[in-house]
Amino acid sequence: MWETGGDDAEILADLGEARKLDVPYSRVLSSMCTNPHPIAVRIHQEFVNTNLGDPKLFPGTAAIERRCIGLLGDLLHLPGAAGYMTTGGTESNIQALRTAIHLKQIDRYRANIVVPESVHYSFEKASQLLGISIRRAKLDDQMRADPGDMASLIDRDTIALVAVAGTTEFGQIDQIEAVGKLAQEYDLYLHVDAAFGGFVIPFMAKPVKFDFEVPGVKSIAIDPHKMGMSTIPSGGLLYRDESLLKQLEINVQYLTSMVQTSLAGTRSGASAASAYAVMRYLGREGYRQIVSRCIDNTVILKDHLIDMGLEPVIDPVLNIVTARVNDPQAIRKRLFEKSWYVSTTTHPCALRMVVMPHVTEDVVQGFITDLKTIV
Ligand code: PLP
Repeated sequence: MWETGGDDAEILADLGEARKLDVPYSRVLSSMCTNPHPIAVRIHQEFVNTNLGDPKLFPGTAAIERRCIGLLGDLLHLPGAAGYMTTGGTESNIQALRTAIHLKQIDRYRANIVVPESVHYSFEKASQLLGISIRRAKLDDQMRADPGDMASLIDRDTIALVAVAGTTEFGQIDQIEAVGKLAQEYDLYLHVDAAFGGFVIPFMAKPVKFDFEVPGVKSIAIDPHKMGMSTIPSGGLLYRDESLLKQLEINVQYLTSMVQTSLAGTRSGASAASAYAVMRYLGREGYRQIVSRCIDNTVILKDHLIDMGLEPVIDPVLNIVTARVNDPQAIRKRLFEKSWYVSTTTHPCALRMVVMPHVTEDVVQGFITDLKTIV
């Protein structure tokens, strides 16, 4: 720590240098984040000193959080859903499983959850933190969870099932209705991870059922800071009813509220305010336009790849494309040398490109031009 403070110009210059090292989104096809909408940025700044961990000091901001949950619930076919704004999909997934543990009177070190092989690594974190084990069900040839295999992994120590609406690697949507039936048949908690797909599927030309419309779904993770165009950190954890959220309550000693359900104690109201602002600004119509552009650009990218002889592992369902190549890691490295950021999938190993709103048609053309010099 410095003995004396610095001045604005010096600090801005110092941090400005660091900022120059960051990669502009226009070169990034590996991330599920994007430039937030300008209204979200503006409102984030307005709410930067708010703390939703102490809601009676910030009743206005707390009311915005409730309105936000109302809007997300409405989007997910349950306007009266309970929930709170999290820091993102990881926190939502951990908290959903914490809820499932509290509902079952079972020794958590014996407990297991059944998930598709395609789940996000946040479930591994949840398993380590909560002491529960994970059973991974096989995927079908479309990279969706196989409900039959999920059923075969359920035993008396299973506390929850997980399905994904918008998988991280392939952008695939599990057969949530089939998994919902399993949850009902075995009386199990079902959490849907729609951290990515939650702001895509409802705005597609032909949305599939993935949310509270499906009987048996108890909670959903949906991230405004991914396709919701909000600022980081902004996630949503939605429950079918208040009694589920209450499973997370702990008593609080020194704050204005007697109980807390969130994982973080102090938490920024900017997450809720910016998400609310961008939803208010765009409306369903605005999101439909964004999603439609992303899907169009996904198809353009896929067609270029096919013209080059590179087949996708699955036909894109959302705005994620994969391409089978001989040595994905080597191609990823060569692209990196040309300042393009893509990722690779695990099984099968392929190139993976996420077509976020910043991946415009021009970006796709520039990317393909460089890829052609490599493949
Ligand atoms: N779930 C899915 C399907 C994801 O794709 C991601 C992140 O990409 C997460 C959860 C974790 O979200 P976060 O990084 O916001 O915690």
